[in-house]
Amino acid sequence: LEVTGAPIFSEDRKWKGVVLVFHDISELKQLEQMRKDFVANVSHELKTPITSIRGFSETLLDGAMKDEAMLEQFLHIILKESGRLQSLIQDLLELSKLEREDFNLNIEQVNIQRLLSDLLPIVQQHADQKEVHLTTEVEGNTMIEGDSSRLKQVFMNLLTNAINYTKVDGNVSLIFKDKDDRILVSVSDNGVGIPQEEVSRIFERFYRVDKARSRNSGGTGLGLAIVKHIVEAHHGNVHVDSVVDEGTTFHVEIPKQFTQS
Ligand code: ADP
Repeated sequence: LEVTGAPIFSEDRKWKGVVLVFHDISELKQLEQMRKDFVANVSHELKTPITSIRGFSETLLDGAMKDEAMLEQFLHIILKESGRLQSLIQDLLELSKLEREDFNLNIEQVNIQRLLSDLLPIVQQHADQKEVHLTTEVEGNTMIEGDSSRLKQVFMNLLTNAINYTKVDGNVSLIFKDKDDRILVSVSDNGVGIPQEEVSRIFERFYRVDKARSRNSGGTGLGLAIVKHIVEAHHGNVHVDSVVDEGTTFHVEIPKQFTQS
């Protein structure tokens, strides 16, 4: 709490009293801390792949490139790490757009069925690589008003996570339903699950339950923050049911009609 005060005098300069202003700065302080943490996280996330790219290129130039197997192995690492930088920068740019005050969705008629069929070949390829079974079930009216490329991003991020956080031979399913004036989409996996005390934190920027697992699978730690922003910009909501070692379901609910706020 911050207090500032000033005396008040009457016209004949007699002291009448004092005005005290109380500022609750705890929220400001918290925001400032979050901003600092964010900058520290971004710097750290950028530094890790750059250090690795520099290290492996230097080792190659110092003579390791004469060994062909080593050359190939190191180039793969450099490619992977630069891919990580690219995804990170893409996600950061998207998040900063979504967080701008003057940000607007590009609202149009969207056929979710069509959107999913555009998305599924890419997701299927990812599932095949990880030996995960993917099923989709689409029922009902799939037309809604929304921002097509951003909604695609929502389902892409949820499906990518479901595939990444499940085990070999695991199952991932997407179920679409329409109910009255809303659509309900759930993405389920039978993977690692999320501990109950961490469920409320996974939508925070850079919050990860298992850092190594997220990084290994190419995660930026920003996917769910982006999902939440996009769904809420559509006046919808997203929530999670999860049991450790059994699996996770993300439920997304979005009104069919978009109302400008
Ligand atoms: P990341 O790039 O790390 O996947 P996200 O923002 O998409 O970042 O997710 C944040 C964290 O939430 C992940 O690191 C992971 O710990 C957890 N998580 C997300 N989806 C799942 C899931 N389907 N199953 C288990 N954990 C998940």
